[in-house]
Amino acid sequence: MRIAIGGFQHETNTFAPSRATYERFVQGGGWPPVSVGEEIFERFRDQNIPVSGFMAEMGGRHELIPTAWAAASPSAHVTTDAFERIAGEIVARIRTAQPDAVYLDLHGAMVTEAHDDGEGELLRRVREVVGPRAPIVVSLDLHANMTEAMFRQANLLVAYRTYPHIDMAETGARAAFFLKRLADGEALPEAAWRRLPYLIPLQAQSTDLFPANDIYRVVARSEGGDVVSASFTPGFPAADFDGCSPVVWAHGRSRAAAEAAVARLEARVLAAEGDWDARVLDAVDAVRQAQRIAATARRPVVIADTQDNPGAGGDSDTMGMVRALLECRAERAAAGLIVDASAARAAHEVGVGRTLNIALGGKSGIAGDSPLELPWLVESLADGRVAATGPFYRGMTLRLGPSACLSHQGVRVVVASYKTQLADQAMYRYVGIEPTEQAILVNKSSVHFRADFAPIAEAILVAKAPGPMAADPADLPWRRLAPGLRLRPKGPAFQPD
Ligand SMILES: [Zn+2]
Repeated sequence: MRIAIGGFQHETNTFAPSRATYERFVQGGGWPPVSVGEEIFERFRDQNIPVSGFMAEMGGRHELIPTAWAAASPSAHVTTDAFERIAGEIVARIRTAQPDAVYLDLHGAMVTEAHDDGEGELLRRVREVVGPRAPIVVSLDLHANMTEAMFRQANLLVAYRTYPHIDMAETGARAAFFLKRLADGEALPEAAWRRLPYLIPLQAQSTDLFPANDIYRVVARSEGGDVVSASFTPGFPAADFDGCSPVVWAHGRSRAAAEAAVARLEARVLAAEGDWDARVLDAVDAVRQAQRIAATARRPVVIADTQDNPGAGGDSDTMGMVRALLECRAERAAAGLIVDASAARAAHEVGVGRTLNIALGGKSGIAGDSPLELPWLVESLADGRVAATGPFYRGMTLRLGPSACLSHQGVRVVVASYKTQLADQAMYRYVGIEPTEQAILVNKSSVHFRADFAPIAEAILVAKAPGPMAADPADLPWRRLAPGLRLRPKGPAFQPD
């Protein structure tokens, strides 16, 4: 078989402050940069990225035709320019190649300036050029907001099963496994899917916690016999359109087998509605509680600054948690990343050991937040190339741009130039902060940090400081959701004006 491969990943928070321009995909923000043609073969070896796992599992058994792959940090809408350039490259290369099958590494929650369902639109264009019979197989993020168009255009869709997403490469490998079976002559499967009637806050979705851990055991157990594949996506609850919700789906050798599996999964997720743990603390309460725990602990207490998580569309620059650390006179405390390229540049200009009087962070204009103007001591400088050491960013070299460790009254802040979710211990060490020796760490992340920080943490707390990713989806100014959808588990139902 000749299989065209490509990828286009963006998780769109339609309430976030900044859009995803083409430049954001070139920079990547924790992902590899835009890669075209052979660059996909060169750049995606042995990384925790779906297309890497796909290529490894294929192992030369079929001819792979690389098209284009692009990803950017989550943010507001993908600009029409960025979407057309990237989708255009993928589709043009598929049109030229006329492959027997297509594999795409997609997120599933992309909203563009012109299309609420970015993936549905991309898949429609791909289907148009390959015709009705070529299999299209897709891997998706656990935060996909699935739509009718995606199910109509693709033949088989598989989603991650872990949050933190430590199984991204493994999910790509599962897509390859199914495509190999199709190449061996197996018939295309039938699909069935259902939307669930309530949104689930991000911090509650972690598969380290109940009930997500149990639901994914049910997902895995429901495969076998005539059920080829089963998936559950709790969704990305910050995209304001009628496709935003959790979904369960299955592919079967018959429609009946797929429907039966989906009915079982739907029942399990409905039964879990009262079980999701979405507790969050106010910023100062979180620091005080961390100080109480740290008083007798030898390991750091880790606080998730969940509402400004750049992995959910934040600009990673709100200062609410740093203010709380200073207000509580926290000692041996560090926070990261504060993304402020002008502060990083100023630190590089004055040098280590000097004090800068600057207004740090707070530039994204989030309600209730502002830059923090203080004398900041420049403790260290770095160029921002960071070899990740944890399981989430496995195999990647992060490019954070000119960076510095700035401190004020013992509170140290990792300042970087490009936004990337703080989900790896190396993102402290590269500016000289040893995370295991801190009493309190504040990470701008909702859940992914758990993969590398849970093993070193005395406790993990989730805090609510200013940011665009509401810890409670019911707090967002929704306008276009499906009527009747509950805005959190057991929460109020959405009614359009
Ligand atoms: Zn995700």
